[in-house]
Amino acid sequence: SNLEIHRNTWIEIDLDAVAYNIKQIQKKLPKETKVMAVVKADGYGHGSIQVAKKALQAGADYLAVALLEEAIKLREASITAPILVLGWVPPASAIEAAKHGITLTFFQKDWLEQVNSYSFSKPLHLHLKVDTGMGRIGIRTKEEMQDILHALNKNRSIYLTGVFTHFATADEPESTYFEEQRTRFKRLLSRLKEQGLENLDVHVGNSASAIRLPEDMYDYVRFGIAMYGLYPSQAVKEKGEIDLKQAFSLHSKLAHVKRLQPGDCVSYGCTYQAETEEWIGTLPIGYGDGWLRRMQGFCVLVNGIRVPIVGRICMDQTMIRLDQAYPVGTKVTLIGCQNDACISMDEVSDYAETINYEIPCILNNRVPRIYK
Ligand code: PLP
Repeated sequence: SNLEIHRNTWIEIDLDAVAYNIKQIQKKLPKETKVMAVVKADGYGHGSIQVAKKALQAGADYLAVALLEEAIKLREASITAPILVLGWVPPASAIEAAKHGITLTFFQKDWLEQVNSYSFSKPLHLHLKVDTGMGRIGIRTKEEMQDILHALNKNRSIYLTGVFTHFATADEPESTYFEEQRTRFKRLLSRLKEQGLENLDVHVGNSASAIRLPEDMYDYVRFGIAMYGLYPSQAVKEKGEIDLKQAFSLHSKLAHVKRLQPGDCVSYGCTYQAETEEWIGTLPIGYGDGWLRRMQGFCVLVNGIRVPIVGRICMDQTMIRLDQAYPVGTKVTLIGCQNDACISMDEVSDYAETINYEIPCILNNRVPRIYK
């Protein structure tokens, strides 16, 4: 083990699963479409450095993050692959981006004019973001595009190397809106080509789009959630077009086991009372780790079987009702498998009334990640 564990709660990241998931999408993609591994938010809570390195080994050849800070962290870990920052950064940050060879996203003329006024010691690469219907960031009209193109080529260190958009409904079965966005993007792209802008890295699709329309992904897919082995939605999962392996699992060990008498209660507010004599176990994990209070009433795996979480979840501890006495130190799985029994990320996120993306992101750094 790579760390001394004083509290027996940890997350295991199966990096071979990450490699497997990349292979699965590569099998569907045409040769000319490459994988950009999305490792923002610390690799969706899986660890951006470890996942990025594994993804690059597995054949991804571009990385994407949301923040410049996240990109610099990868550079500081000696990762030399191209990195795109997907979000807006302040114009003055362009100097730092160029220094580290990090590609930035742009879509505002004022931003570009500001950046044009700086002198760079290394080239700055930019990808133009087009808002075809996500309504978040990006240029929306051909006028805006003309304007921004006029402001290009005013600084010899600045290169437009890519153009991209993002779909709002790629993970939904209905395709009308998705198709409208695709049409808008095609129109803007052909205008760019008319202006003589060829050889750009063009990318439009996240995981759901790549699984749905692998033939129409241009140069890169921005592969996020599915790389971690999670389906972008129930609809995508049900279509069965790709087999994915979940990389993330969460485990703990019993810190205490005791017998309760009928009427004895468990945790704040006495929301749980034993009805019979029963065995209660205590786990060293709570909402202070991002194990949400609303998981009360859900289950965990002990000895390969499901047992319920009882009473309120505390900041650092969670109680479960055991089927029998187990020794302190018995392994408990909160997300993942024990033998054939599994609690998937989707089950956890459904219970928490959120999406699978959110769960590994909120399990915070108080829980160590261990890599397999
Ligand atoms: N592209 C952009 C612009 C994103 O914001 C994201 C993440 O939300 C992704 C790609 C990756 O999406 P997914 O995790 O659904 O594959």
